[in-house]
Amino acid sequence: MTDLSQPAGAAQSQATPDGVAPPLWLLAELTYRCPLHCAFCYNPVDYTDHSRELSTEQWIGVLREARALGAAQLGFSGGEPLVRDDLEVLVGEARKLGFYTNLITSGVGLTDKRLGDLKAAGLDHIQLSFQDSTQELNDFLSSTRTFDLKQRVAASIKRHGFPMVLNCVLHRYNLPHVDKIIDMALAMGAEYLELANTQYYGWAHRNEAQLMPTREQLEEAEAVVERYRRTQGERCKIFFVVPDYFERRPKRCMNGWGAVFLGVAPDGAALPCHAARSLPGLVLPNVKETPLREIWYESDAFNRFRGLAWMKEPCRSCDEKERDLGGCRCQAYLLTGDAANADPVCDKSPSHDAVVSVVNMARRAAAAGEAREQPILFRNDTNSRKLASNASAASVAASGDTGSHGGTGG
Ligand code: SF4
Ligand code: SF4
Repeated sequence: MTDLSQPAGAAQSQATPDGVAPPLWLLAELTYRCPLHCAFCYNPVDYTDHSRELSTEQWIGVLREARALGAAQLGFSGGEPLVRDDLEVLVGEARKLGFYTNLITSGVGLTDKRLGDLKAAGLDHIQLSFQDSTQELNDFLSSTRTFDLKQRVAASIKRHGFPMVLNCVLHRYNLPHVDKIIDMALAMGAEYLELANTQYYGWAHRNEAQLMPTREQLEEAEAVVERYRRTQGERCKIFFVVPDYFERRPKRCMNGWGAVFLGVAPDGAALPCHAARSLPGLVLPNVKETPLREIWYESDAFNRFRGLAWMKEPCRSCDEKERDLGGCRCQAYLLTGDAANADPVCDKSPSHDAVVSVVNMARRAAAAGEAREQPILFRNDTNSRKLASNASAASVAASGDTGSHGGTGG
């Protein structure tokens, strides 16, 4: 297994301000606090270990440094960014700096007053998430009663004149409702609908056995999307990406590690991808201690998987490596134990069976009409603390060190 705690060597030396393009977009994860408890949440499962948040002034510093570095798109995300009462101040600063700003929200806390204030501060765009087109499933999957509230918030967003993306994460529970989800987006006047098939890391990885759809479910949903695209034209632009577990080649994750995306977690850890915190031993630099320019161009974390020099076989000698850059590092780690391996979605990977067996499990369970017995693990503080302490215990056991532990990634 590659030791991520060691300096990057060859990969590190290739990255210089001359050879590396600046980031295009900054994702500011303002907080891990969230009133919802989604079964597929992309926040790290041990988020309670990283809950101390940057102050308003520190976030303003991050925005200024990121803009100076060249970032132009800015997403305010979380958790639920609306739990921060300085959101309007940060949006105002971002507008002054010339960012195009997007609020990524569950809608909880998005009152008419806040919508007006955010509009006045210069917010450009809002992405509102739903869990389903039905109240029953929406509320079950988020473990909250929020469906009616989200409906009201969607109407208010349009009344305030914001362009709106509806986002719905798809899995085996709601894939059969894709037509209803599209109808809902059309009725709400959404300009965009993002049908985001679940990515199986974070909480979704823990709930993989429950959430994984069958290939037939995906194909049927894709056919429905195609039909709507033909009949509805440009009224609402629908994005639908097949989850890569069902492909034979991985996606070019984040369009390349350290290529366009710069995330900053609530505690100031800088992230080359949303899930980078799941990679043990990868020391994430923190904006509280290191200037963003240095983080982007010089840190080990951002250079570790930049470009192609870090690759092992079969990627190193593969004639497709420039196309997919070896796929997702976090998926490679989760399924093979080594983040420098080929993404096992690829059928050239010696670990491809790990992906096939999950897909087959979903097919067999559906064919047998089996209920998937394992209970869903909802994202909440209690479960996060348990998972964080289990991970610590496992890491202590693995190192043989009973005196202290090193955490996961930050
Ligand atoms: S996925 Fe759900 S629980 Fe996670 S941050 Fe978003 S709304 Fe909150
Ligand atoms: S072997 Fe690696 S580079 Fe080649 S197609 Fe598979 S993941 Fe991509």
